[in-house]
Amino acid sequence: MIQKFTLKIFLQKYSTENTCLDEIKNIRWPNGITCPSCQKITTFYKINGRTAYSCGICRYQVFPLAGTIFEKTTTPLQFWFYAMFQMTHTRSGISAKQLERELGVTYKTAHRMFKQIRKLMAEPSTSFSDGTIEVDETFMGGKGINRAHKWRQGIEGKEKEIILGMVKRNESTKGKSENKKIYLKHIPNTGKWTLLNQVQEHINPKAKVITDEWRGYTQLYKYGYEHLSVNHRAKQYVKGTIHTQNVENFWSILKRGVYGVYRIVSKKYLQTYADEYAWRYNHRSLKENMFDQLLRQVAEVRVLKA
Ligand SMILES: [Zn+2]
Repeated sequence: MIQKFTLKIFLQKYSTENTCLDEIKNIRWPNGITCPSCQKITTFYKINGRTAYSCGICRYQVFPLAGTIFEKTTTPLQFWFYAMFQMTHTRSGISAKQLERELGVTYKTAHRMFKQIRKLMAEPSTSFSDGTIEVDETFMGGKGINRAHKWRQGIEGKEKEIILGMVKRNESTKGKSENKKIYLKHIPNTGKWTLLNQVQEHINPKAKVITDEWRGYTQLYKYGYEHLSVNHRAKQYVKGTIHTQNVENFWSILKRGVYGVYRIVSKKYLQTYADEYAWRYNHRSLKENMFDQLLRQVAEVRVLKA
């Protein structure tokens, strides 16, 4: 049985700056550090007052934070870890406002921390090579949250931002069972070409595509896709296995979360919020180990421009 990774256990495990730094060192060098000067794995000791370790034999120094988002930060590592803990242990994450209150940092700092972590949560190159992919769009912000279909035909995108979602279903083939996977993209409109470009960029024609009746999708067959649709306007939601329930269920999680946690949706950051929700969805099978996965991802990746 997996032990529940509670806040209490988290705070015990990462009780000092040094334990956090040690964790990052272990992620970067899981099999020990080969000293470039001694040419072998040696013991490295933490240097007092610095984020560096030095070789016990020749004193060569290594810097575990170099090249990561933590490199130049003046915010304690414990605070970064805490932010990541909250992002992985709450269904909808927490807001910068809440982080500001809980850690006593400025709003600007809290916002910047989330921004940098979310950048490393993004999975830009998702592509679905086979299986069944549900494709749908949803409208965020503005008024009349759930009237996507009405809006699509009306004043398109005037007050609302649009997110396109693709969910690969969990279908066990040849005894192999994959987890459902989602890809999200903030798109400028629901026009045929916008949708087609996204479908072609992320879905191989060997996969089956399921959508609603929106006319933006009706040409997909011309591009080699097996395309099936349900007619939502005619109140038809499920036709055997032809439905878009997985992606629609995700929309309700996203909307409840985004409106509940962040309240206002800034157009500029909508994609990054979406990335955070997609990340949680795509890693939910890790359950109690989501934090470790996120920390590995964040600690390993090279620095990104702010
Ligand atoms: Zn050495």
